Amino acid sequence: VFSSFEPRTPIEVAGLLAEIHNDPSEKKVDLLSGAYRTEEKKPWVLPVVRKTEIMLANDGNTYHEYGHFLGSTEFNSAATSFLLGKESIAIKEERTLSVQTLGATGALSIGARFLRQCLGRTHFYLSDPCWEFHEALFMQAGFVQSSRYRYWNAEKRCIDMDGLMEDLSKAEPYSVVLLQTCAHNPTGCDPTPEQWAKIASLMRKNKLFPFLDMAYQGFASGDIGEDAEVVRYFVDQGFEFMCAQSFSKNFGLYGQRAGSLTIVSNCAHTIPHIISEMILIAGGNYMVPPLHGSRIVATVLNDPALFQEWERCVKTMFDRIIAMRTGLKKRLETLKTPGSWDHITSQRGMFCFIGLAPAQIEYLRKKHHVYTLKNGRMNVAGLTTTNLDHVARSIHDAVLN
Ligand code: PMP
Repeated sequence: VFSSFEPRTPIEVAGLLAEIHNDPSEKKVDLLSGAYRTEEKKPWVLPVVRKTEIMLANDGNTYHEYGHFLGSTEFNSAATSFLLGKESIAIKEERTLSVQTLGATGALSIGARFLRQCLGRTHFYLSDPCWEFHEALFMQAGFVQSSRYRYWNAEKRCIDMDGLMEDLSKAEPYSVVLLQTCAHNPTGCDPTPEQWAKIASLMRKNKLFPFLDMAYQGFASGDIGEDAEVVRYFVDQGFEFMCAQSFSKNFGLYGQRAGSLTIVSNCAHTIPHIISEMILIAGGNYMVPPLHGSRIVATVLNDPALFQEWERCVKTMFDRIIAMRTGLKKRLETLKTPGSWDHITSQRGMFCFIGLAPAQIEYLRKKHHVYTLKNGRMNVAGLTTTNLDHVARSIHDAVLN
């Protein structure tokens, strides 16, 4: 039975992670994966997360019953207020719904299923380039056509705003357009508020449906509230939309699968209908979402003192990322590496899209044991004060070769 299908090429990151694992070199640098690392190259359990876990374990209420299909009410309402702002008009008018999901991946997945199955949407647009699972998520939800809108201007190493506007202006009405709200993966380039205004007005004019994806809240500006501004802008502009929200990165809860899908509708009376469909979609996939991560998130979001402590943790991660960006740029400038390296510090979030040719990226890996994705996406959090010199000299050598 299992020999009757053609195996596909494994996804790129899995192949490269296996390669780095088998690389015996002491010089190897892992800039591949999408997770935060400390100066010691270790995953970081946020102190506020550890403290909350201990508190929850001691309070004797951490039973392991099945939760609700759409997740805990406490988590869902905290996630909605946190995303849209407590004073949001959409919350006041009771026209929002948040569903606890298996990370932002789960939110994208059930959101796409809802759009396909209940609203009959067939065509979706993704940025070119985008996160590697976006396309699979929509196709597996039953979408029939996938298109890309231009996003990256390779020559200027910034957003290709003209290309983006041209491609979206040709999109069929009712298409779903996936827009990453901040710290874009993989380019680290986000639209300015003025560019967002242009995108939003084109979306409205062409009847395109915004599916917002916020996986790196806090990593773009260091301020979790400021990073949610785009989502709030879409509410203020009267859009109906979906937003996938991740607590994987900003809480360091990667494996716990804590995320949320928020739906903003224009009419409160549609919410009970959406709830009944969502129960079928979520229930038919995984029955109920996991408990542990969402308990931690809800506890922190609902407690002002823990919340402040968490904000400081996010800032700690942000500051280290900025220090690594600045350190890399400074070293390349000191080495007088040909080209401009301003984009290293102007890009935001955990990723730097370094802008080298594929052959130079391969050279970095083969000759210097510096591992990035083939498109040049580097996880800046994989840099440390001890490997910065090696990485800068390797890039210098790759550029000159
Ligand atoms: N969207 C983007 C842009 C991402 O980069 C990621 C994760 N790398 C996700 C969604 C999924 O996030 P989560 O881990 O919360 O499922």
